[in-house]
Formats: sequence, structure tokens, C-alpha cells
Amino acid sequence: MEDKNQIEFVLGSQKNIALIAHDNKKAEMIAWCAANAEILKGHFLFGTGTTARMITQHTGLPVRGFNSGPMGGDLQIGARIVENKIDIVIFFSDPLTAQPHDPDVKALLRIAQVYDIPIANNKATADFIITSPYMKEEYVHKLADFKHNVEERALRLEDDIE
Ligand code: PGA
Repeated sequence: MEDKNQIEFVLGSQKNIALIAHDNKKAEMIAWCAANAEILKGHFLFGTGTTARMITQHTGLPVRGFNSGPMGGDLQIGARIVENKIDIVIFFSDPLTAQPHDPDVKALLRIAQVYDIPIANNKATADFIITSPYMKEEYVHKLADFKHNVEERALRLEDDIE
């Protein structure tokens, strides 16, 4: 049944993948990218500044770099999720070290959840995602229709205005 509060979104067969690793996890990220290079080659890769640069340097994979994480790189990736320009996030975060940009990390995790974006925060989850049959196919999912939601709320809140 059609739900007018929901709208269909399609993740294309070629995915836009964001790669992020905290400093203690960069070596693990580079090894993971090298191990999965054949698959990653078929997609479009993005990353926070230092992570992107190091992956390219060590694996030859083209990764478009945004700002470094602490300088807003995680937020740039979050903004691209909102614009439907990032389909998957592989984020090797460090659970044992305090990060100055922890609020940005939380914002990214939250917005990925809101937009129903697959997000791996450890290697095992990344392995499950990268071997999924959906990596080669389109994936259709339903999201809240925010336009419709804004219209409805704006109308409802009119009553509060004198
Ligand atoms: P970096 O940022 O790739 O520039 O190190 C990652 C992060 O700390 O979120």
C-alpha cells in the first residue's frame, strides 16, 4: 500500500562509498581497502582528508578527499548523505580514544540512520557489506518524505500564529 509520508530512493548499482578511519584505525582501513580493491574499483570512493590521501597512496585507488575529520570532513560526508550523494559509509572509528570531533561523528551516525544508509563502524560489518549481493545491484529503500512532512507541519503550526 502506498504511504504518502514515504518516498522511494534508489541506491544505484555503482555506489558512492565514503571511507573514514580514525588514526589508530588507518592501517586497518588501508589493509581492508587493499584486500577489497577489486570490488572498490567498480564504485566511486570518497573519504575524509587524511584517510583518503593515505588509501590512494598505499593502494592506488582513487579516493576523493574532503576536509580532515576534525576540520569538518565527517560533516561534509553527512551533508552529502542528505543530498543523496553518498550511499554507503565505511567508518573505522576508534572506540578507545577520545576524539575532539565526537559531536560531528555522532551527527554523521545519526544522519546515516535517518537516511537508511548502510554504515559499518568495524571491519566485520564492512566485510558483510562489501560482500553483499546489493553491492552489484540497485537497492530500493523508503524514506520519510520530508517535503510532505514540512508542508504538513507548516500548515499545522499556522494555528499557533496570531
Ligand atoms: P582524517 O579524519 O581522515 O582526516 O584523519 C578522520 C576522522 O578523524 O574522522
